[in-house]
Parts: sequence; structure tokens; C-alpha cells
Amino acid sequence: MNKMYDLAVIGGGPAGIASAVEASVLGLNDIVLFEKGSNHSTTIRAFYKDNKRVDKDWKGQKVTLEGNVHFMDGTKESTLELFDALIAAHKIDVRFNTEISSVIPSDPFEIHTAATETFKARNAIIAIGYMSKPNKPDYALPVTLRDRIHFNLDAFSSNETVLVVGGGNSAAEYAHYLSDQNAVTLTYRRDRFTRLNPINESIIMHHAGIGKIRLKIGTDITALIDEGGKPRVNYANGESEIYDRIVYALGGAAPLDFLKKCGIELGENNIAKHDEFYQTTTPKLYIAGDIIAKIGGSIAASLNHASKIVNHIKSREKNTATDKDD
Ligand SMILES: Cc1cc2nc3c(=O)[nH]c(=O)nc-3n(C[C@H](O)[C@H](O)[C@H](O)COP(=O)(O)OP(=O)(O)OC[C@H]3O[C@@H](n4cnc5c(N)ncnc54)[C@H](O)[C@@H]3O)c2cc1C
Repeated sequence: MNKMYDLAVIGGGPAGIASAVEASVLGLNDIVLFEKGSNHSTTIRAFYKDNKRVDKDWKGQKVTLEGNVHFMDGTKESTLELFDALIAAHKIDVRFNTEISSVIPSDPFEIHTAATETFKARNAIIAIGYMSKPNKPDYALPVTLRDRIHFNLDAFSSNETVLVVGGGNSAAEYAHYLSDQNAVTLTYRRDRFTRLNPINESIIMHHAGIGKIRLKIGTDITALIDEGGKPRVNYANGESEIYDRIVYALGGAAPLDFLKKCGIELGENNIAKHDEFYQTTTPKLYIAGDIIAKIGGSIAASLNHASKIVNHIKSREKNTATDKDD
């Protein structure tokens, strides 16, 4: 059993890093941050394309920052640099390559790693996002097409026919990025885009207008078939097309198994029940970031969760100390 921490943060993305930073600024003493990847911000590294524009008001949500992390519009690289600098400046004790398997709801919490180490902490914040498991479509994905079906942009080259599937900002940005060097079709089952922020909407409409991106909207995909090593896509409207590659941008699945293992009660839409300070029904156990919002999360919103949570921990501890003095 390792030493006792004032605060353990699970997940080294924007919400987790900001939680550790706010805790350091507000004077919590022993803080530890666990990240399963070999570096922080795995979602940003894996799913943002290089040089991606990072919008503070992502999805058009205007968020006024409340805490001590000064995040602004930038790029993937400037955002990662901001978090690098914060971790260094606040000397955050980050344990990389450390996947947490559960947080046992005891007092203090027992935090178990997948490698069977155990840590103890008086307060814990779960900030593991939901991109560890990207959503897949309902129809079968042939295993023989494994190298041609993607969930991020890691394996793309040029001069290929590419189908981007999804109606959100990630799908729009993937389509725009790929259209520079490939023949891109963007498909969405609804007949119009309702979730795009104004910048992405205007980019997509402009590129569709000049023929750089082909839109195929208002029809669902019914099946994907291996046709001589390439994906043949059958659409509900009876059309069928072959592409070199497909990339799905369908968001991610909430980490329900993890939350249940931590004894967290789930409420509406399978989001953990929590109070206005993001404290779950287990006292001193909080959730932050995308797992609160699921659809519609953003970096700025995650930073504000962190600030609110840590202020709550601090004021709770102050009240406890005052009660003892009385
Ligand atoms: C393609 C794309 C583009 C986006 N563009 C923007 C944008 O321009 N502006 C914006 O504000 N938002 C954008 N977003 C949304 C933004 O990335 C998220 O809102 C934000 O990353 C949420 O932060 P988080 O800390 O809650 O979760 P995440 O960033 O997902 O971080 C969770 C971290 O927890 C780690 N983790 C998971 N499970 C465990 C475990 N069991 N143990 C230890 N560590 C674990 C993960 O490895 C990860 O590093 C975009 C999202 C995508 C997918």
C-alpha cells in the first residue's frame, strides 16, 4: 500500500490536468494524477489531426473560464504545449502508463491499478473521458477490412477515395482535412447537419459548393461488404459505392463498466448522478470532463468542472477544520 494522497485524479486529459493544477494552486498538498497512456491528453493526441484548429467555444458553446488554466483558441500543438507547461510549472506528480481499474468507495479511497498496485486518497476525481472506446456502427465491420476502416486519421495518405461517416464537428473536420489530398464523401444519416459549429458548417458548405467534398446526407448505411479488399457501402436509399477507406467519427462510449466498478450510481442517460459540485452520491468522489456531458463536452467546460470541484474540496476541508476548532 502506497502513501496517502489528499487528492487522486484518474485520467490525464484536460479535466484531469486542470483538476491537479487547481488543487496545486489552492494548496492541496499531496496530489497524484494517473494516466493510462504514455503521455497526457491521449484523446487529443489520438483523435485531433496535426495542426487542427482548437476552438475554445467548441460546438458553438460559449464558456467563460472560471479557474486558473488560461486556455484559448489555438491548435492541437499549442493546446498540448499549454498542458505540458502546466504540468511542469505545478510539478504535478503524473504516473503515466498507469491504468486505474477501480476506485473502491471507502474512506480513504483505495485506488487500484490494472497492474495491481494500490494507492490511498482522501478525495478522488474521475476524469477518464469517453474516447477510450470509439463508437462503432450497428452493422458488422468485416475483419478482412481492418486496415481500411479507421476511427482516427493515423493511417491516411493521398489520392484515395475516402468516406467519412458522422454528422458532428469531428466528422466535419476529418472531411475537410482529408479533402486536401483525397476524394472525400461525407455521409450523415439525417438530411441536414444540426450539430456543427458555425465555422465548421461554413467550411463544409463552402467545400461542398466547390466540389471538394461530396455530401451524401439523409440516408443511412445498411451494410459494409468486402469487395476485393475494399469496402463496399450499401445505403438505405438503394445506392452502393466502393471506397478505398472509411473513417468513422461517431463519438465514444461512456465507460459504464468502470463507473459501476467504482460503485457510482448512474442517472439519466447513464451519466453518473452528481450534485452541483460534480460530487457523485459517494462523498468526496467526483467526476469531471466529458463523462459528465458525454455529447457536448469541451475543453473549456472540462476546465470549469475542475475548478468547481477543487474549490468544493477546499471549502469542505476548511469547514471541517473550523468545526474541529470550535
Ligand atoms: C476529433 C475531436 C475534436 C475536438 N475538438 C475540440 C475543440 O476544438 N475544442 C474543444 O474544446 N473540444 C474539442 N473536442 C472535445 C475535447 O477533446 C474533449 O471535450 C476533452 O478532451 C475532454 O477532456 P476530458 O479530460 O474529460 O477527457 P479526455 O480528453 O478524453 O481525457 C481522458 C484521459 O483519461 C485517460 N484514461 C482513460 N481511462 C483511464 C483509466 N482507466 N486510467 C487512467 N487513465 C485513463 C485517457 O487516456 C485520457 O488521456 C474534440 C474532440 C474530438 C474527438
